[in-house]
Amino acid sequence: LVSRKKKPDDTIINIKGEQIGTGEQHFVMGPCAVESYEQVKQVAKALKDQGLTLMRGGAFKPRTSPYDFQGLGMEGLKILRRVADEENLAVISEILNPNDLEEALDYVDVVQIGARNMQNFELLKAAGAIRKPVLLKRGLSATIEEFMYAAEYILAQGNDQIILCERGIRTYEKATRNTLDISAVPILKQETHLPVMVDVTHSTGRKDLLLPAAKAALAIGADGVMAEVHPDPAVALSDSAQQMNIPQFHDFMNEIKKHAAVF
Ligand code: PEP
Ligand code: MN
Repeated sequence: LVSRKKKPDDTIINIKGEQIGTGEQHFVMGPCAVESYEQVKQVAKALKDQGLTLMRGGAFKPRTSPYDFQGLGMEGLKILRRVADEENLAVISEILNPNDLEEALDYVDVVQIGARNMQNFELLKAAGAIRKPVLLKRGLSATIEEFMYAAEYILAQGNDQIILCERGIRTYEKATRNTLDISAVPILKQETHLPVMVDVTHSTGRKDLLLPAAKAALAIGADGVMAEVHPDPAVALSDSAQQMNIPQFHDFMNEIKKHAAVF
């Protein structure tokens, strides 16, 4: 079902008026984790200043260590929804547990399935049964074929509103947090009819590479870019090394606008 052979036309996903998959370039920006109303509000205002509508933020955080901040859970989703309603933005947030999905739908516009859950088949099936878009991230060591099969699980349940997101894979290279597999973008665009985005924050893990990676993603045909923004990354409860602060976010967007047809 994901195959372009079965469906030659691009799937277009409408999120709060943004049509993803039409060739326009979209930006999903926001903090790694929701920490407070004030934190999300500051980021939301910066998004509005740049004319963006798609806000991300993690409420359920899949952390490598069980002792690290695990997110605010449902309270975090409520904060995102409140700010999004005040600022007229859309909310994209990761859900880890299929049991949280139904309640989460009251607060999110797009359900994110993270890299660590790309082959959580029960979660994929549950996401297939909903009628809201799903942003599916590539697994840390998933092949492109495995990534497409994960999307197939969602589609097989009747939900074709899927955005694929390349977020870097594990390789022997240590200069970046993960290795951004940039050629996955045109391959996925050829093989499937689904929109493809690139997460430049988790793939590179380096602030100095966010802009070049985003330019490369858009140049190679990505439908959008995801990156993390935090009002004060130094005190962020997760991913403090690679989140942009607000002035850096404005510099990033202003530079990108010279190269991209930003929606
Ligand atoms: C995230 O986007 O918040 C995240 C945890 O990313 P990934 O699943 O790609 O590691
Ligand atoms: Mn993060």
